[in-house]
Parts: sequence; structure tokens; C-alpha cells
Amino acid sequence: MLELRPSCEHCNTNLPSNSTEAMICTFECTYCRTCAIEIFENVCPNCSGNFVERPIRPSKYIEKYPSSTKKIFKPKDLEITKKNTEKYKDIQPEKDKTMITIRIATEADAVYISLLGRITYTESHGEYIEDKKTY
Ligand SMILES: [Zn+2]
Ligand SMILES: [Zn+2]
Repeated sequence: MLELRPSCEHCNTNLPSNSTEAMICTFECTYCRTCAIEIFENVCPNCSGNFVERPIRPSKYIEKYPSSTKKIFKPKDLEITKKNTEKYKDIQPEKDKTMITIRIATEADAVYISLLGRITYTESHGEYIEDKKTY
């Protein structure tokens, strides 16, 4: 069941259950329309997915299934979100190709795998390597 969060995560505007201004992403990150569309340009700053209008829960169900009362207020660093928006705003979410395909490695992949191994090793053990320049 949708959480119906009570406010915009970025600007703290109240978004009651019958608000037509509430926009949500697939993870229910909840923003007001102004933040979601004008500021983030329809790219969720948390998951990079798109937003849709949050459906209104019919009033007859609100008593039994009320809105969440837990406010989430995490204003975004607009410089960082702008970069994220630029990267994803022209990609239709259903055509996002960043999903990884799993397949059996071939000999031609060896160069990438060894490079990845070096990067992973440097990241996990980098602090133990004294002269980082040689790696
Ligand atoms: Zn907002
Ligand atoms: Zn999201």
C-alpha cells in the first residue's frame, strides 16, 4: 500500500492525501509538483527514475488506511541533483539501458576484467599501498 507521505521531501510543503500536487517515484520518494517537475525535471534525485502523480486515496478509505504521519525532509544539494537531472532527463525511463546484462565472459573481455580487478583492488586495499602512483 502506498505510504502517502505527508510532505515534500525537498521543500517540506504539506501534501495531504487528497493533494493533486503530490508526485511519487517508484520507491515512493514524494515531492511536490514544483520540486519534481520544475526543479528536478522529472528525474527523482534519489533513484533517477521518473515521477507520476500520486493517486488520491478515496476518502472512504482514509480512516482505515490513513496517510503516513512521518515527515521525510531531506533537501537536496541542487548542484548535485542538477548533474543527475542532466544525465537522465532525456532518457525515457522504460528505455534506460543502464541495466546490466549477465553473460559468460569471453577471451576478449579479459582486458576489462583485469582492469576491473585492479580498480577493485586499489579501492579496497588502496590505503595499504604506499606509492599509489605506480598502481
Ligand atoms: Zn517541494
Ligand atoms: Zn526515487
